[in-house]
Amino acid sequence: STRGNTIDGFGYAKGLRERIAGRVATLKSEHGLTPCLVVVIVGEDPASQIYVKNKGETTKAVGMESRTIVLPADTTEPDLLKLIGELNADSSVNGILVQLPLPAHMSSLKVIDAIDPLKDVDGFHVQNAGRLAVGLDAIVPCTPLGSLMLLKDALKTHGDGNLLGLNAVIVGRSNIVGKPMAQLLLNENCTVTIAHSRTTNLPELCRTADVLVAAVGRPKFIQGDWVKDGAYVIDVGINRIEVEGKSKIVGDVDFDAALPRATAITPVPKGVGPMTIACLLNNTLQAACVQHGLPVPG
Ligand code: NDP
Repeated sequence: STRGNTIDGFGYAKGLRERIAGRVATLKSEHGLTPCLVVVIVGEDPASQIYVKNKGETTKAVGMESRTIVLPADTTEPDLLKLIGELNADSSVNGILVQLPLPAHMSSLKVIDAIDPLKDVDGFHVQNAGRLAVGLDAIVPCTPLGSLMLLKDALKTHGDGNLLGLNAVIVGRSNIVGKPMAQLLLNENCTVTIAHSRTTNLPELCRTADVLVAAVGRPKFIQGDWVKDGAYVIDVGINRIEVEGKSKIVGDVDFDAALPRATAITPVPKGVGPMTIACLLNNTLQAACVQHGLPVPG
């Protein structure tokens, strides 16, 4: 089989958003329902502001309602919890996302725990994490969900479409990427290994991976010769670096070195990144359907 294929996450995400827009239109015409996503941002972190603006625009572009609530950085935790309680009780709100990171005086665990699990479109609530872990219907975190979609599509295009029995190595064990990614691949019957900063012999471990997922947060950390011949590589990393005085985004994988060895690999940018927002919208659409007792469009 071939090597050196680049996975077009940008194009896949565009197609997914178009399918979501179609379902939103049907939901509107047949049930008079417009899914609504509320994003809460506390403080003025510049990166968070850009993410929130993007989320708002993309939400509207698929025909959903988008509301953004901006709170000052000195908002107290009880005041934020009160707001979440109101959003939970508001039946016109289908999805609630609290942009992380929160200011240091708040516990993100406590804040996320206050969100109604059915409206927790980020999938970070312990109930959703637990449901995913035991194989029940759950709202799945957007980045791993989008990564799995790209992986399955690449396997269909370049291989036999089957994840069953493949060795998957995930580098990174965060609650928002590494751990849920491991759960998803386990559910797909991969043999899953999770690596982290205390893992020994990481290069050798990576060389056993038919599926290699990098969620480390270090620019070009995964070297080309860590990639098994014919592997599928999913690069979740988004790292801003300076190259000759210019700011540039790179992944956790040394893309140029990994590409010729991999069957297929996601680029950065235009790989996993655009899938995250598309999956957020998909989660919001599904949440709206569940909340109204309607079949979840598939
Ligand atoms: P975290 O910082 O929460 O987790 C990083 C993980 O990498 C940790 O488990 C850490 O191990 C591990 N790690 C760090 N250094 C090493 C090392 N030298 N060797 C092996 N493992 C190591 O990051 P996130 O999971 O939140 O994000 C990971 C990356 O993905 C970041 O670049 C982030 O920007 C990006 N990201 C992209 C998204 C998207 O939309 N595409 C969404 C979310 C994140 P330990 O636990 O031992 O500390």
